[in-house]
Amino acid sequence: NNPQVINFSPGPTSLPKPVESAIAALFTMPGLTSLATSHRAPEFVELLANTVALCRKVMNIPEDFEVLFTHGGGHGQFAAVPLNLCKNPSDVATYVINGTWSARGAEEASRYCSVKTIDSADPVTGKYQTFPELTEENIDPNSKYLYLCSNETVNGIELFRLPKLPESRKHIPLVVDASSDFSTKPIDWHGDNIGVLFACASKNIGHPGLTMTVIRKDLLGGGKASPLCPGVFNYTTNSEAGNLWNTPATFNIEVVGLLMAWLDKEGGVDACEARSIAKSSALYTVIDASNGFYSTPVSDKALRSRMNVPFNVKGGDDALTNQFLIEAWEQGMVGLRTLTPFGVGDYLRASLYNGVTEAEALTLAAFMKKFAAEHA
Ligand code: PMP
Repeated sequence: NNPQVINFSPGPTSLPKPVESAIAALFTMPGLTSLATSHRAPEFVELLANTVALCRKVMNIPEDFEVLFTHGGGHGQFAAVPLNLCKNPSDVATYVINGTWSARGAEEASRYCSVKTIDSADPVTGKYQTFPELTEENIDPNSKYLYLCSNETVNGIELFRLPKLPESRKHIPLVVDASSDFSTKPIDWHGDNIGVLFACASKNIGHPGLTMTVIRKDLLGGGKASPLCPGVFNYTTNSEAGNLWNTPATFNIEVVGLLMAWLDKEGGVDACEARSIAKSSALYTVIDASNGFYSTPVSDKALRSRMNVPFNVKGGDDALTNQFLIEAWEQGMVGLRTLTPFGVGDYLRASLYNGVTEAEALTLAAFMKKFAAEHA
């Protein structure tokens, strides 16, 4: 609870200080919070409608898209997507694999549909450092959807804008895992041919336990999903019930609303993108100017993530890395080394979600510069 702590955690992580204060303030007001109100009470129904409206406003979500608050995190959507868009297990879906999370998504989907992959792993090292070209040749025309992850949280690869599909593949809806970059750049919902976009809340927009799933309404409708799709995962069921088919994550929905109100006040998604560019540039500039003291795995600057900056200290030198982390910690900077479900990463990682201010990113950049000067 040290107010000086700067949290670079890859998620769950801190929300912007004004949002955290607004959450705390809920408990000082008379009456009940959304933690203790029926989800069918008029007060909550109004809060839900206001939250959806704010999400639509900030992210420019058109009326022909449905906004759902789903359960089961990003992993829940790894299963829900094929279960909703592929009626039969023989239906084809194409997955772009450019990092650990898209690989995980494809693995889960292969239980429910026939997965084809466009894989960008380096054939020798197996590492993900690029984004593959999407062509007529590698996209099966019969795909029910084309899946990609717009920010690979572990590998540090981000698409600043979504790729355009070849003309002959434009009938295929895109499915986007935007778990770690949602709200930080504009989305051209129609122009980008989005079918489904989901984001687990725990990085940029809230806390774990809630996932935002936005789906184009023509993909809804009886008889389109697999008969095995569980009700809690069924987009049509949840849309028809107005997000109240079962008990939604009421408090988390309120938090998303507070976060969206903050984004709106701070200039919306364009201003958020400008802040993300400033924060990440500060770190990449220090890394690039360090004569190899720091290195980052993604050399293509057009793909370097603004959300998660992976870097190592002197080629991953253990003693120096530990010293770096201890000194950073002594200055209140935490969350730079975390475990992933994919094993111990080779790299430290500075995650720069909405909870990290520009000034805080500059503090880390200045520390990195000083540390390099002292230890090069
Ligand atoms: N996709 C991406 C891009 C992620 O970063 C994560 C979580 N780190 C997930 C999916 C998985 O989300 P969850 O843990 O909510 O299932």
